[in-house]
Amino acid sequence: MEINFNNTFSGQKQPEEKHEKVIILGSGPAGLSAALYAARAELAPLVITGTELGGQASLTFLIENYPGFPDGIGGTDLGQVFQKQAEKFGAKFDYDYVVSVDLSQRPFQVNTYNTHYQADVVIIATGASPNHLGIPGESEFTGKGVSYCATCDGWFFKEKHLIVVGGGDSALEEGLFLTRYASKVEIVHRRDELRAGAILQRRAMENEKIHFTWNTTVAEVMGNGSGIVEAVRLKDTQTQEERLVPADGVFIFIGHTPNTSIFHDQLKMSPAGYIEVDDLMATSVPGVFAAGEAADPHFRQVVTSAGMGAAAAISATRYLEEHAG
Ligand code: NAP
Repeated sequence: MEINFNNTFSGQKQPEEKHEKVIILGSGPAGLSAALYAARAELAPLVITGTELGGQASLTFLIENYPGFPDGIGGTDLGQVFQKQAEKFGAKFDYDYVVSVDLSQRPFQVNTYNTHYQADVVIIATGASPNHLGIPGESEFTGKGVSYCATCDGWFFKEKHLIVVGGGDSALEEGLFLTRYASKVEIVHRRDELRAGAILQRRAMENEKIHFTWNTTVAEVMGNGSGIVEAVRLKDTQTQEERLVPADGVFIFIGHTPNTSIFHDQLKMSPAGYIEVDDLMATSVPGVFAAGEAADPHFRQVVTSAGMGAAAAISATRYLEEHAG
């Protein structure tokens, strides 16, 4: 169902008009770290959270590689402490979604469903979203057996046979998480070599619930009469042979696409849609900075995104000092 936030009983409500010094788009590690640094510079930044408070990191069950937490920390918990720390120094939050921006002149225009903001400086930290395979049955069965988030949906698959697609860190990490619930996790990878790091590879190889199906892609997701996944059609990438395999769920982890479509034609971007930034996190438009996965095709870690967010806020602070008045 599509919600129209602007409808009232008396007709169309006009968006509110507000001016802010610093607007941060996105509430993942990059956005929340930028908020902390801008707040400590006494700029009272406003974070427009988007639909996923805490960003993709909040969907991770346990983050083991963020420094300072030797026993790991839950993704949601980390997002909450980031937010609490930023709020303590004066960061403000609007739990809304940006629908359009105009970066052609200052103050910049940032429009959410409910508010028309003007901003002296904008920090973009809109992150990335999971890629889809684009195969028959994928969108039809999303939420009915097809998923892009093990932490969100794994619980529904107790003692089930699951297919995990991909050969990177995400596929292995999420596949390992799914072994908490599933009876069998079959990792289907299009090559015979994994892209994932050594520690995850070793853990997955040692887990007796995990099985690997090499040189294979999923060609179709198939369901039963009740609209629930019951099988996948697998295709051998070398022989092109196809076979049906019973499956209760399909978890897809084949990389991400940056959430930058609303900035097309306004900022310089790579062909893949990553916002181009210099070493000060400045974009092609003076006064607009970017951080995290929206601008990072290389590292995409919680710690690197947080670092980029902090750097963007420091640059934004200096920019405002130089362009006061
Ligand atoms: P990724 O490293 O880009 O891996 C994507 C995987 O999906 C690859 O194995 C790729 O196969 C496969 N793939 C891509 N398109 C496909 C298609 N159309 N059909 C079938 N398979 C396809 O993405 P990721 O695993 O999401 O990781 C992204 C970044 O986050 C990486 O830098 C990773 O290190 C990081 N990350 C780190 C951790 C951690 O440190 N714990 C956890 C999660 C993610 P090929 O190998 O053949 O290209």
